[in-house]
Amino acid sequence: MEKWSIGVFASVDAGLGVHLDVAQELNIPTVQIHAPHQETRTPEAAEKFLKKCADAGITITAVFGGFEGESYADIATTVKTVGLVPEETRAARVQEMKEISDFAKLLGCETVALHIGFVPEDRESENYKNLITCTQELLDHVASNGQHLNLETGQESADHLLEFISDVSRDNLFINFDPANMILYGTGDPIEALKKVGKFVRSVHCKDGTWAAEGSRGKEWGCEVPLGKGDVGMETYLKTLNEIGYAGPLTIEREIPEDREKQKADIGQAVELLNSLKEKIG
Ligand code: MG
Repeated sequence: MEKWSIGVFASVDAGLGVHLDVAQELNIPTVQIHAPHQETRTPEAAEKFLKKCADAGITITAVFGGFEGESYADIATTVKTVGLVPEETRAARVQEMKEISDFAKLLGCETVALHIGFVPEDRESENYKNLITCTQELLDHVASNGQHLNLETGQESADHLLEFISDVSRDNLFINFDPANMILYGTGDPIEALKKVGKFVRSVHCKDGTWAAEGSRGKEWGCEVPLGKGDVGMETYLKTLNEIGYAGPLTIEREIPEDREKQKADIGQAVELLNSLKEKIG
C-alpha cells in the first residue's frame, strides 16, 4: 500500500461510518469498517462485502468492534456504556469481540480495533486487574487469528494508555490514534500525545474538533467539526505522523450521521485537504 493512502470510516450494516457507496463515489481507496450485527457476521456476508470492495477497488484496513447498548450521548454516559470497561457487560463483550476478530479474519483483515472505554485510573483495583486479564485473553484470541488489536485514543491520557499497554504486556496491542478525541474528551493536547505514544500507532483517524470551554473540559464534549476547521492543526498533525514514521492509511472520520449530504461533502473536502498536505509534507 502506498504511504498515507486515503481512507474513510465506513459501515457494513450498522453503527458509525458512511456507506461504502460514499467511499466509492469519492474514489477513496481504503476503509476501516464498523463491525456488522451478529446475524450479518457470516462467511456469506463477508464474501459479499469483500466482492463489493474488490469491485470498487477498496481495501479494508481495520475492523472496529462496537456493542449494543453503547451511547456517546454525553461523557458520563460514555463512561458507563462504552467498550470493555463496564463490568456488567465485560465478559459478554470480550466474547463478542472475539467473534468480530473471527469475522475480520474472514475479510482477510489483520487489524481489529475498538474503544476499550475509560480505563480505570487505579492500577491496584480489582476492576483494573480484571480488565487487564480480559484484554490479554482477547489479545491471545486475536493473535491466533494472526491479527493485532488497536485501541482508539481519547478516553484516557496518553500516559495512562501507555501504562495500560505496558500492564497488558502483549506484543499485538497497538493504537489507533484519533487526535480529535483527545480534544473532544479533554484528555490532552493531541500532538503532544501523538509524540508520546508514537511507537504504538498502527492506524489513525483524521478527525477534527474544538475544545469545550475552559473549566468544563473532560465533563462536556468539545465539538466535532469538518477536517481543518478545528483545533488539531492538520498540517502539524501530518508532520508529526511523518516524524514518528507513520506511513499507514489516513482514515477520515466524520460523525454526523444525521446529515448524510453534509457528511459526504465534508469528507470530500477532507480528501482534498489531505491530498494537498500529502503533496507538501509526505
Ligand atoms: Mg475515531
